[in-house]
Amino acid sequence: MAGIGSPCDDADMVLASALLAAAVAIPSGIATHADGRAPVESIYRAVNSLVDRGWTAEVIAQSAPAGTTTPLPIVALRSPKTGPAVWILAGIHGEEPAGPNAIATAIEDIARLGAERPVVLLPLLNPQGYARNWRYLNVPVYSEEIDGQSVGDSSHLLPSTDDPARPRAPSASSPEAAAITAWILARQAEYPAVISLDLHEDNLIDEGYVYSQGVHGATEELAITAVGVLRDNKVPIKQDGKTRFGEPVERGIIGPVSDSSIDELMSARQVVVDGAIRAGPGAETVLVLETPAAALPLAQRVAAQAALLQLLSKNLITTTGGY
Ligand SMILES: [Zn+2]
Repeated sequence: MAGIGSPCDDADMVLASALLAAAVAIPSGIATHADGRAPVESIYRAVNSLVDRGWTAEVIAQSAPAGTTTPLPIVALRSPKTGPAVWILAGIHGEEPAGPNAIATAIEDIARLGAERPVVLLPLLNPQGYARNWRYLNVPVYSEEIDGQSVGDSSHLLPSTDDPARPRAPSASSPEAAAITAWILARQAEYPAVISLDLHEDNLIDEGYVYSQGVHGATEELAITAVGVLRDNKVPIKQDGKTRFGEPVERGIIGPVSDSSIDELMSARQVVVDGAIRAGPGAETVLVLETPAAALPLAQRVAAQAALLQLLSKNLITTTGGY
């Protein structure tokens, strides 16, 4: 039996600190917007469980925008295997809770996928927005007057259409966007993105759809699969016509758009970093899921997004190559 100050105690302490170092510290006592979404702490706890499976957890940045009191970590998790990777992103817009909740629901499936092939998980990119139901860092909702700072804003890295040697914006719109986008680019060496899935919602639509930002656009097989899963889970799908932004919809899918989003970054073949053109992630398949938040209860949207994560995790384990 180990007494005080014995070598065994020291060994226990070393082990305990190693475990603490592996998982991301979870802030306590954070109030989460009460609409049925999981408390922010339980989202962190769910994704931290991947550390027990050999995943690496790290903090990309501590997010503490004006008006918040306790910084919240923006966490990233990487599976044990490196190589061409599946990237899963969620929680960019804080008033769209389905994605982070779906990831927590499907965490075992994601863990199984990560045991077989490289996976990068960015489960809660705007934790302050999630906790207080704010879309952006600086404003709760979209506004004509105030430029909403999205944590996914990639305009400081994406080439301008006028001059591809220059970025669309001289600098990142927030410290969070700077840190997240820099982290994504830095990880492309070990975990080059081949598939990127970004979970969103839209509270101004009654029918969902999927953006396909990758090379196959609206004919992307995985996008067609995603639409099928949503429909099977009773999510109404906008089959044709145009989005509220005027983008054409084909069988529930919208081809590549230029919106300076993190998804455009994931598909970008070139980026501009510190005035120099560099190779971008150039992921072949980039999907952005939009479930209709106003038309369906949260539990149903979470179930549909979780079903998609579960199916993709299963399919991607058994297929090789790009998928
Ligand atoms: Zn969104």
